[in-house]
Amino acid sequence: MNSNFEYIPYGKQDISPQDIEAVVGVLQSSFLTQGPQVPLFEASIKQAVQAKYALAVNSATSALHIACLALGVGKGDVVWTSPITFVATANCALFCGASINFVDIDPITYNLCAHKLEQKLIDTKKMGGVLPKLVIPVHLCGQSCEMEKIHTLSQEYGFSIIEDASHAIGGKYQGQPVGNCQYSDITVFSFHPVKIVTTAEGGVATTNNKNLLAKMELLRSHGITRDEALMTEESHGPWFYQQIDLGFNYRMTELQAALGVSQMMRLDEFVAKRNDLANRYDSLLDNLPLTLPMQDSEVHSARHLYVIRLQLNKLNKTHRQVFEELRAGGIGVNLHYIPLPMQPFYKRLGYETKNYPQSELYYQEAISIPLFYQMLESEQDRIVDMMRDVIK
Ligand SMILES: *Cc1c(COP(=O)(O)O)cnc(C)c1O
Repeated sequence: MNSNFEYIPYGKQDISPQDIEAVVGVLQSSFLTQGPQVPLFEASIKQAVQAKYALAVNSATSALHIACLALGVGKGDVVWTSPITFVATANCALFCGASINFVDIDPITYNLCAHKLEQKLIDTKKMGGVLPKLVIPVHLCGQSCEMEKIHTLSQEYGFSIIEDASHAIGGKYQGQPVGNCQYSDITVFSFHPVKIVTTAEGGVATTNNKNLLAKMELLRSHGITRDEALMTEESHGPWFYQQIDLGFNYRMTELQAALGVSQMMRLDEFVAKRNDLANRYDSLLDNLPLTLPMQDSEVHSARHLYVIRLQLNKLNKTHRQVFEELRAGGIGVNLHYIPLPMQPFYKRLGYETKNYPQSELYYQEAISIPLFYQMLESEQDRIVDMMRDVIK
């Protein structure tokens, strides 16, 4: 079927000549790591998202890990998140010795449902269960969760908040940039190549809390400090450093940071183009037996993903058939995500997807169709035509 056409991936980075120049410049410089580019990248994120502090690390997974540790998550604690996310969002709690639990998604936005969160908090408290130490809302597809409501609940029930904004750099909530941490302790971004801005591999944690920044900074690099104010004894000399905590090597390289600095100059352009393409999908796919993404009026999505849901009762094909036929037609569709409780690792721990009916239903109907900065309107037309063909 259309084998003369090129395969259209669901996501793809856009590397400009300036990006290449920036990375080559680092290779020709004295620092491949721990030089000037990482602080420059951090400054560009801070400025873009209007947070006081930003800390760059080697992945969003690392950022989630040290963010949890900085917030004191440990043994005996419970962390809550959405079942519809990448595995790293839940794994970070387990890295710290805590356990994870899930709050089902909202059927319209597919984000962790703030209303169900409230109900689960009420029920847990009533039954004398363990309330969460931390909740990690995930801004799925680039659309912010209802952060004001979640923040209000955090004050009532005493939990911390990390926003997993891996999909949402350049997005807005109530007119303010995602990542400014107005309603959270820490926000985490990913710069994996399929995300909106890339550093090849990379992550950033933003916060307005100086102590959280200091803890994460220490954990990023082995728990080692050269700051005499933090040392337990007087310096032995100019070589002196102390390990005062158990940290990791989660540092970002200069090559990655230089790419990030260069990419961040095009953030607005990236997000605007994604929105244009998404709006175009909205009109081209209208009138088909599909549920298209709904935008919350308080949110300006960064449009990381365009997820459609099949209205299966109006089709004479299965979800799998539609998916396979699109793939066979050269369309790089994908599914974000398999509900976490369905993963063998989490199943072994006793989680059951049937406890999250909206997530289960989402998984039966959802397909991510290609959306990336370089996508041509002609490619988009081909995707829409193929979709029409497959589901007619
Ligand atoms: C990509 C992603 C991550 C992990 O990001 P890495 O930078 O690859 O570690 C975490 N959470 C979500 C929601 C993601 O999409």
